[in-house]
Parts: sequence; C-alpha cells; structure tokens
Amino acid sequence: MKGFQQTLQNKIAISGQALHSGKMVTMELIPQPVDTGIRFCRVDLPNRPALPAKPRNIIDTTRNIALGTSEWRIHTIEHLMAALHGLKIDNLLVTVDGPEIPLGDGSAQFFVEKIREAGLAVQDKPRKVRKITKPVWVADGTDPRSYLIALPGEGFRISYCFTSDHKVTGNQFAQYLITPETFLKNLAPARTIAFWRELEALRKQGLALGGNMEIAVVVGEEGYLNQLRFADEIVRHKILDLLGDLYLLGPLEGEIIGVRSGHKLDIELALKLEDQLE
Ligand SMILES: [Zn+2]
Repeated sequence: MKGFQQTLQNKIAISGQALHSGKMVTMELIPQPVDTGIRFCRVDLPNRPALPAKPRNIIDTTRNIALGTSEWRIHTIEHLMAALHGLKIDNLLVTVDGPEIPLGDGSAQFFVEKIREAGLAVQDKPRKVRKITKPVWVADGTDPRSYLIALPGEGFRISYCFTSDHKVTGNQFAQYLITPETFLKNLAPARTIAFWRELEALRKQGLALGGNMEIAVVVGEEGYLNQLRFADEIVRHKILDLLGDLYLLGPLEGEIIGVRSGHKLDIELALKLEDQLE
C-alpha cells in the first residue's frame, strides 16, 4: 500500500527574507490536480515562466540548488522540496516574485508548519513510487573521499557520513528510514551549517545570511555559537538536503548512502538514476 497522491487543502502565501539577496519575497503554494507533480513559477517576470521540479531543470548547485534556464532562475528550493518529500505532497504549484524562495528558519520546519496549517488533501489516484533497481553511484573527481551511492531496498532509507577534522563538529554519522514521523521528529528541524569565519567574510561583502544567527548551526573556533536543536544537527541537515534534492525524482524506494557529498553530487545522482528507475 503506497497511499494516494496528495496536494494542499488551501493555498498558502509565505513572505520572508531571501538568503542571498536579503530581499523580501512572497511565495505561494497552490493546490494542483493529480499527476501534475511539483512546478515552480516566477510571477514577477513577463509571461510567468515555469518549470517542473525535475533533475534536468537544475542549473546551479554551488551553495544551494537553483531551478531555471539561462533566462531566469529560482534559488534555494531544497528545504521546501524536503518538506514536500517528508510530508508526501505530490502535486503543487510554487510561485515566487523573485529569484529565490524565502529562507524560513534554515531548515524545513518553517515550511512544514505552514503546510500543516493549510492541511493536506488526499487525492483520488495512487502515488507513483519509483524503485531503485540496481546500484548507481557518483563520485567527486576532485575529492576521492566524496561519493554518493543508490542501492535497491525496501522503503526509503538515507545514511550519511559527515567527516571533518574541525574539533567542534567532529565526524557525524546518521541513518534514517524516511517516514513522515521520522521526518517530522528528526530531520525537518535540522538547520544548515555555517562557519563563523565564513559568515564574517560574507557580511563584509554585504551578503549577510539575512543577518540572523538563528538560521544556521554556527561553528566557532572553540564551540558552537548558538543553541543546537540536536547534538548531530549537521549530519541531519545533510540528510534533509538529500531528501529535498532527490525529490526531483518524485517518491523513491531504495537506499541512499552519502559520504562527504553535497548538492552537486545529489543532482548528478538524480540525473543518473532518472534513466533506470522503475
Ligand atoms: Zn540545506
């Protein structure tokens, strides 16, 4: 029993600051009919360009993932995508009036709360869950320690190895069988990592992460500089990013193992998997 497709019961509008520009943007999440998938649309541009959330439509993976073309893009969609994956939302139109979606709280929690307020609507067609049928992997040519593997398996499980010689973070490992329950409890609230040194440099360039210390796990030389939500929040966020990035393939069944991987490898794996999913 894989369950039925879902959308939202009501439209949601979310305004907030964007990560890179610091500008205020407004995003709307609009319920859609069965079999339409997740689509993103720029409503501030002529002709309102839109694209489905598919691996081939990702054009930048530098710090976040951006969907678009050479003419337009929408940045930082991964935490919203993780929320849609975790809550099993299949059909949705996401509109935004700028080049980025609102950052929220640096995790998926902010989006999860808004979506749960609006309510989920169960639709009258079964979900299409795609199975990983054989091992597929991608590796980073510049760092032999970094790779990402997909294997066949029951349910959908993600394991991740965060390795660092930074004395504050150390190495972190976590593994989760992804269900709405484990997602809500263990993954949705996990925030992205930021090093204090880098934040200072960004701030000097005027890119202030919205200037808000609460939207990231801030790592100082001698300790964390803010309150953690989990002792291993960093590795949980890496799993959250994988959940968001791989939802470009829709619901999956199988096993994912990441070691020192990031958005670039996530999208490479998604492109490679797309050809062989059943
Ligand atoms: Zn992230």
